[in-house]
Formats: sequence, structure tokens, C-alpha cells
Amino acid sequence: MAHEVERATYEVIGALERFDERDTVFARESLLPGSVEEMEYHAHHPELVEIDRRLSRFIQDKIDAPPEVPADPLSEAYYDATFGSVAALAQPDSVDGEVAACRVEADPRLVSLRIKAVAERLGAALVRVARLNPAWVYTHRGVRPFFNDYRANPPLFTGVPQGYHGLRYGEPMEISHKYAISMGFPQDLGLLKTGPSLLNDFETGRVYALSALVAVELARYIRNLGYGARAHHLRNYGVMMVPVAVDGGMGELARCGYLVTKEWGANLRLVCVTTDLPLAVDKPVDLGVQDYCEKCLKCADNCPPRAIPSGGKTEVRGVRKWKIDAERCLLYWGSQGAACGICQVVCPWSKPRTLFHRFVAEIATRAPWSRRFLTQADDWVYGAKYHANPYPDWAK
Ligand code: SF4
Ligand code: SF4
Repeated sequence: MAHEVERATYEVIGALERFDERDTVFARESLLPGSVEEMEYHAHHPELVEIDRRLSRFIQDKIDAPPEVPADPLSEAYYDATFGSVAALAQPDSVDGEVAACRVEADPRLVSLRIKAVAERLGAALVRVARLNPAWVYTHRGVRPFFNDYRANPPLFTGVPQGYHGLRYGEPMEISHKYAISMGFPQDLGLLKTGPSLLNDFETGRVYALSALVAVELARYIRNLGYGARAHHLRNYGVMMVPVAVDGGMGELARCGYLVTKEWGANLRLVCVTTDLPLAVDKPVDLGVQDYCEKCLKCADNCPPRAIPSGGKTEVRGVRKWKIDAERCLLYWGSQGAACGICQVVCPWSKPRTLFHRFVAEIATRAPWSRRFLTQADDWVYGAKYHANPYPDWAK
């Protein structure tokens, strides 16, 4: 297939190290000051106490002193409607469960085709299969799925299937499945372009909820075929979404830290299903994104807190890549009261799937000489600087 290569375009320059989900900013922002988890985590990371307090302040302010009358109640109700629904799909007996006793045996190539067709019918725009690299499995659970129960600091899950790992914060994660089915779901660019805003949050949450449901459905489907399968989505990850999707050839890791695809650019949300169902795997791709990002700094130039590097790549746990400053990014979200997403929107690859934009993406992937011109052309046509759209009439 076009653009397929033998090795993914991230550069492995050392021993790959697994990542502890407790070290993500989303885990650290939800550490309740004074809780057992917070004290234990910061005993090992005293250098992070101050920044983590700043990260968590936004959540704590919301919980400790929610405004009695929200400034925009019709919009503020979106958050729980969408993100709360993702949390409802995060229980271990939603993402995982019993495997049918009768096992279906078939040619892995045919099974892969069927799995992709089913995932697409369920709602995925892109589906790719990779062999699961154990380096992309989190070492420990770090993110709490139930935001609303955060204050009570409850056990995270109930109804745990046999063999399920990563029940509570800090528990080791083990995923021994051989394959990972990555699925990509595009967002409405028009709504994203209102960001940072509650409407942007709404669209992001809508797609997270849809993608979580599809992951859960696909995992159930595979378990009904007689093979273990676990869904991974926003509120219950066991593996890292981007490298798994890169390995399957959905796109490449870009300067902005997101996956950039030929079809939807960086405007995607990712979920995955890991499984032991024998599947034919896809190869990674080289779309020219590494070269394009060298020539294009649009996300870095437009990132309000300058969280995206303008310079070169650095080594992160054995991989050479652009490393975004996730703390700056999240602090900016907190300051705005909503998620941002500007980097996803301004990326020249993030365009509607019109005939014209497909043609431009084709040129960008096939003709290295065109890339500098295309970055400039994008500025001429769409503007070099990001400007948020007003809300559409239905949302005003
Ligand atoms: S989401 Fe916003 S703040 Fe975060 S890296 Fe992207 S542009 Fe910067
Ligand atoms: S905006 Fe430009 S530099 Fe940033 S990810 Fe997209 S192509 Fe790469």
C-alpha cells in the first residue's frame, strides 16, 4: 500500500522504557492534596509538588466552590453529558469481560478485514492493526476515571473480571495481548475552532464518548468470537494511543504531540482494542510528516502558552521526538476554563475531506519539494494566526 514502510518514523535511539500513567499531567492534576496517593507520589517526586498544586487548582476550585449560578448553564451542562458518559463506559466489566467458550478459527487476513469493516460500521473513520509493542503498555494506573467522585476518593471500579489489571490508582498494569486495533474518530473542525471554549469541549467529549462506545462494542464482539479483548479509551487506558496507532500505520507522531494522519490531520481522537484474536497486521507509514513538521511551525507559533517546541527533537524514554510541555498546556486549559485544541485546528493537515484537500494531502505526502510551499500557502489561505470562530446559532 502507498506510504507503507518497514519501520515507524519515530526514531528509537535507546532502550524503550514503559511509561507510568501516574506521571501524566492528567493523573497529577487529580491528586488530592493531603491524600495518601498525593503524599506517596510527591515523596518520590518532591520536585513536582509546586507545579502539581497549580495543575490541580483548577479542578479543586471547581469542586470546592462551584459557582452557584454558572455563567453559561446551557453550555456548562455539556461536560458531564459527554465526558460523564465516557466514564460510565470505563468500568472493567465494560472494557473487558467474559470470553465465549466456543472459539472461531479463520484466516487472520479475512478476520482483519472483517474487524475493520465492523469497526467502520460502528463509527470508526480509520482502523489499523499492529502487533502490540509491550513498551507502549503503561506500568501503573494513574488516571481516575470518575471525576465527580474525586472528592470522596473512592475505589475506582467495581465488578472486576478475572485477570483484570490496573483496578486502582498505582496498581501495576499488565496487558499481554498480541495485537492492537487502533481506531480514529474525526471531530467537527468548525466546533473545534470555537476553542478554547465549552463548545470545543462538547465536541471533544462527544467524539470521546462515541469512540469509547465503539471500542467497548468491538472488544465485546471479539470476546464473542472466543478471544480475549480489552477496550482502551479516555477513561480507562492500559496502553498509549499514539505509538500504537503509529505502529499500525494510521499516521505519524507530529511536532504537536498528536498523531497526524493523511485523511484528517491532527483532528482525531483515538481509541484501541487489544486482543489475542489472530490478525494480519498493517505496516507503519511514512507520509512525510517528520519533514513537513521541520518546515512548518504553525502549531508552535499558535500555541498560546508556547508549550510546543519550535526547535529540534529530544530523547524521551528511548525515542527521539518533539516533546511538548504538557504542564504548560494543561495550565493554559485551566486558565481558560476549557480545553484548547488550537494546535489540532491550525495544523495544515487538519482539513475537511474535500476533493481539493485530498489532492493537496496527496502532493504533500508524495512530493517533498512541495512542503515548504504548502506551509506558506496554508498561511495565505487560512491565515498564519489562529482566530476563534463565534458560536453557531444553535449554541448561542
Ligand atoms: S492544546 Fe493548546 S495549549 Fe495545548 S499544546 Fe495545543 S495549542 Fe498549546
Ligand atoms: S502544525 Fe505544522 S509543525 Fe505542527 S504538527 Fe502540523 S504540520 Fe507539524
